Amino acid sequence: MFNALVVEKDAEGKTSATVQSLADDSLPAGDVTVAVDYSTVNYKDGLCIGPGGGLVRNYPHVPGIDFAGTVEASDDPRYSAGDKVVLTGWRVGEVWWGGYAQKARVKADWLVPLPAGLSTRAAMAVGTAGLTAMLAIMALEDHGLTPEKGEVLVTGAAGGVGSVATAILAKLGYRVAAVTGRPEQAAYLTGLGAARVVPREELTEVTRKPLEAEAWAGCVDTVSGPILGRVLKQMNYGASVACVGLAAGAAIEGALITPFILRGVNLLGIDSVMQPFENRQRAWTRIARDLPLDKLETMIEPATLTDLPRLGAAILKGQVRGRVVVDVNA
Ligand code: NDP
Repeated sequence: MFNALVVEKDAEGKTSATVQSLADDSLPAGDVTVAVDYSTVNYKDGLCIGPGGGLVRNYPHVPGIDFAGTVEASDDPRYSAGDKVVLTGWRVGEVWWGGYAQKARVKADWLVPLPAGLSTRAAMAVGTAGLTAMLAIMALEDHGLTPEKGEVLVTGAAGGVGSVATAILAKLGYRVAAVTGRPEQAAYLTGLGAARVVPREELTEVTRKPLEAEAWAGCVDTVSGPILGRVLKQMNYGASVACVGLAAGAAIEGALITPFILRGVNLLGIDSVMQPFENRQRAWTRIARDLPLDKLETMIEPATLTDLPRLGAAILKGQVRGRVVVDVNA
């Protein structure tokens, strides 16, 4: 038997999430069984703990889009009992049962060996959000960003992706301007290494100006909406924005084509879910090297399976700071 957060849907279509004890034979098909140590809470988890937002296919469902743990049994030659592994993406926790459980069974192709220097707890403090932050930074670097080029903007900075992006960029020597709508998080953000904090309202006005003064050498954008529309017009000549999320909305409000054709600005789409194994491994290796673990510790809010319905609702309202680490065995 093992404990899991199970989401059920009643005849009226209303969902409820409770911690239940499940038999091992209820685990789905897969070639690797993992004893989960930790999971975390992402925006998508908030959706899947609740009505699902169209992501969950079948009920009862175990959410949790990422986890880290120890292989218990494997039918795949790449993994053996005792190996430490991390999983993010591949629609685990949405279409497939996920990490809000003491046990998970998945495809070996979806796993990444835990990089040296990271514990399973640290890996989930990083989680999908942190992996995505690293992928965004790698994409900016691949498009020529270096610390000498100037200031780098991080939007939604007090959130999960933003916090990890801020800490990694600062460690790499970048001067980070962190955008937040929560002024009370200013000390947290400068503690992560932000050189300065930009109030969100400075970037939310939708304008029809074709361009604004050049201000940013790069940007990790987690919010889109009117902020991305403004930021594109403020990018330096030839600079890139890594577009990660849509916390402020799925449209790029007020955007015009001018930044692309007059300043050669690049908008780089970042997807963590279907990233090939080699890129994931490269990103996890970089995280183990470039993310300061003392800063990561300041981002962590510890939680258990029973906290998840509350935290799922909170992340949908933008009220979670940094990274929740869920100890599924507590
Ligand atoms: P969080 O909820 O932890 O952080 C989002 C942050 O965005 C909030 O903390 C807040 O930061 C800011 N924010 C919230 N609402 C608004 C708003 N209306 N206007 C402007 N800013 C707002 O989420 P994550 O960091 O985990 O994820 C961020 C986004 O990235 C989400 O949309 C998520 O779905 C997406 N994502 C995409 C991935 C991919 O593969 N592309 C992977 C992981 C996440 P503050 O309080 O500092 O202003």
